[in-house]
This record gives sequence, C-alpha cells and structure tokens, in this order.
Amino acid sequence: MKYELPKLNYAYNALESYIDAQTMEIHYTKHHQAYINNLNAVLEANPAIADKPLEELMKELAGLAISEADKTKLKNNGGGHLNHSLFWELMDPANSKNETLIEEINQTFGSVEEFKKLFNQTAAGHFGSGWTWLARDEAGKLQVYSLPNQDSPYLKNHTPIIGLDIWEHAYYLKYQNRRVEYIENWWKVVKIVG
Ligand code: MN
Repeated sequence: MKYELPKLNYAYNALESYIDAQTMEIHYTKHHQAYINNLNAVLEANPAIADKPLEELMKELAGLAISEADKTKLKNNGGGHLNHSLFWELMDPANSKNETLIEEINQTFGSVEEFKKLFNQTAAGHFGSGWTWLARDEAGKLQVYSLPNQDSPYLKNHTPIIGLDIWEHAYYLKYQNRRVEYIENWWKVVKIVG
C-alpha cells in the first residue's frame, strides 16, 4: 500500500495566530511528506508486510521478519505518518468538543484543567524531540506521557487519543525557544477538549 498525505480540512492560515501559516505549510508539505516517502520506500522493500495496517505493524514491530535497520525506518516513518495524521485531524479552528471524552478525563484526572496541567508539564519537561500523548492503555485506562522521536503509542499497544508534536519544527518559526507558550496556545486550536 502506498501512503499519501491525508487531506487537510482547513487552510494553512486557519490556526493563526496560534500556529502560523508558514509553519503549517512546511510541516505538512515537507516534514509529513518526507515521513510518507520514507515509509513507502521501506514498505516497497518489504512487500510481505506492505498491506498490513500501519497500527498493526507498530504493535507487532519487534517480531516482524524484516531487518533491524528496516524496523527502525518503519518505526520512525510509520510513526511519523500516523502521528502527524492524527495531529492535523485534532486541530480545528471550530474548536468542537467531545463530551464523552471530557467526562472520562474528569473521572481520570479530576478535571480538564488538571489534565491539561499534567499534559503541559509532561510536554514542557520532555528533553529533545518527541510527542506528548493522551493514550488509552490495554486495560482501557487513560494515560499521559511523552515518547521520543516519532515513537507511536501503538508500539506500546496503546491507542493514541491526543498527541502534541513537540519537535522544534512544529513551533520554532513562531515561538523559537518558547516551547511552553506554544504548548499553552496549542489548546486553543484543539478540538475534543479545547
Ligand atoms: Mn512534526
């Protein structure tokens, strides 16, 4: 299967002034596209696994009958594609809410405010590139944590729900070293709990 950029449901400038149009365009057309190109190349080299859903490949990565080098490429670029696809989908200038998830967040973390505080601290405290996640573990429980690079929660058999890209490419043009400001502003363009 050949992967392609998913459709973006809004214009590059739709998330201004929290996420600037230039960052959106470069992030979507260059960074995400590069993960897709590299993902397609590693799948082309390994046709036996090419038609399996990407989420399954992440869950089964360690046991796949492919070279260690290709496992690394698949983890980085398959993760890159899954993570960014969710990221574009999560952001929405309309800022619509998911009441069911909000109720679950309230039950697990006390309140949406407490959840965001924990999430933001986790994101701000992550050293280097990576993502901060709200994910559902195998027991169905919500968890907040960061993972390095493009590691997907599916690698842990978890299902990602909310993911924040904290690579510098996601915010540096507008925020430079001010990661905390980027994290706080990001919630203003996130649907579900925004
Ligand atoms: Mn990114």
